[in-house]
Amino acid sequence: MSRTAAADHVLDKIAGKRDELVTLTRDLIRIPTVNPPGDAYAPCAGLLGERLRGRGFAIEYLRAIGAPGDSDRHPRLNMVARRDLGGHGRCLHFNGHIDVVAAGQDWTVDPFAGIVRDGRIYGRGACDMKGGIAAAVIAVETLCELYPDLPGTLEISATVDEESGGFGGVAWLAERGMFSPPRVDHVIIPEPLNVDRVCVGHRGVWWAEVETQGRIAHGSMPFLGDCAIRHMAAFLHRVELELLPALQARKTRMPVVPAAARHATLNINAVHGGEPEAHGGLPSPCVADSCRAVLDRRYLIEEDPAEVKGEVRRLLEACAAERPGFRWRLRDIMEFQPVMTDPEAPVPRAVATAIGRVLGRPAEIVASPGTYDQKHVMRIGQLKDCVAYGPGILDLAHQPDEYVEIDALVASAQVMALAALELLGRGR
Ligand SMILES: [Zn+2]
Repeated sequence: MSRTAAADHVLDKIAGKRDELVTLTRDLIRIPTVNPPGDAYAPCAGLLGERLRGRGFAIEYLRAIGAPGDSDRHPRLNMVARRDLGGHGRCLHFNGHIDVVAAGQDWTVDPFAGIVRDGRIYGRGACDMKGGIAAAVIAVETLCELYPDLPGTLEISATVDEESGGFGGVAWLAERGMFSPPRVDHVIIPEPLNVDRVCVGHRGVWWAEVETQGRIAHGSMPFLGDCAIRHMAAFLHRVELELLPALQARKTRMPVVPAAARHATLNINAVHGGEPEAHGGLPSPCVADSCRAVLDRRYLIEEDPAEVKGEVRRLLEACAAERPGFRWRLRDIMEFQPVMTDPEAPVPRAVATAIGRVLGRPAEIVASPGTYDQKHVMRIGQLKDCVAYGPGILDLAHQPDEYVEIDALVASAQVMALAALELLGRGR
């Protein structure tokens, strides 16, 4: 069979599985895998694992014992399915996170019912990313049915805790060699980056807590104390005047979307100072002796991570030099470095070609403003050929009335299957 005929065959077969794809997506949405705390991971991993076992995959369930949040009540249970097809070929791995964020307020439908309406499936995780997992499952199953002798290996994993950093999920598996060559050569993560976009990587992130310190005194005689909130205001003033304009002036070569995120950014996630808010409307008159701010710094692949921290430290030192009594502490909360796959590497090329074939328009190569599990695949697994590609509109992730379009779901399954055919079809 010619390449074109083989591709047509795959597209037809998946188009015929539309209802099956919808059913699987709804079944996954109905398992409320909310993280935190990490509810219902075992039944969700089990649904996928037992389905794939029935289709000839070898299944491993791997609990990340000792990972953050792991307990007998909330086990961090990951599922890895593997099927060796014919001969000595490459291994393509599809990885999806099964955890979803809390539903939150303002839904007009039940977030865990998997309601279908107007060509869309609604629910928490519909786009981020149970629709993508279902599409990947249908893609690999179709390939196994049509081409059981394809040279190579297909893997698909359902992993936990992406929304909280991935420590008990992809990071844990990557530390055990599950995302490293020669076991795995190519990885596709079906995150919702839109059905016609290939995402080659993401910016870096550094979360830190700045604390300014003062001295408590009676609020009627503030001159006897030293107000930590005023010290914090002085620091934030320098952030506003010096740091933010400097960050805005930096631009990355990575194709980050939206385009405004091609600059370095800083968000002040929280400021807490003085007494706790829960004073019932009756604050006692005290000078604040501590004030803490949480910084969310997103940095570019061109920036040096040490310098990212250094420039914040220098602002604090400048405040200390000009303000008597200014005392501060800087504490790291979390950091992940930027990653980017070469857009000319095999996976981005295969996915982009498949998008052109399925959708009849050129693929857009993009990068993500925020991080996802690709960082663990590339930094821990040292695997350089990894992208995010999946159905669903990025902006809908974590929103009320999250949904995935059924047409996009089917098209993304077709794209994933064609890309797999291309990547494995060439052998090793
Ligand atoms: Zn996601």
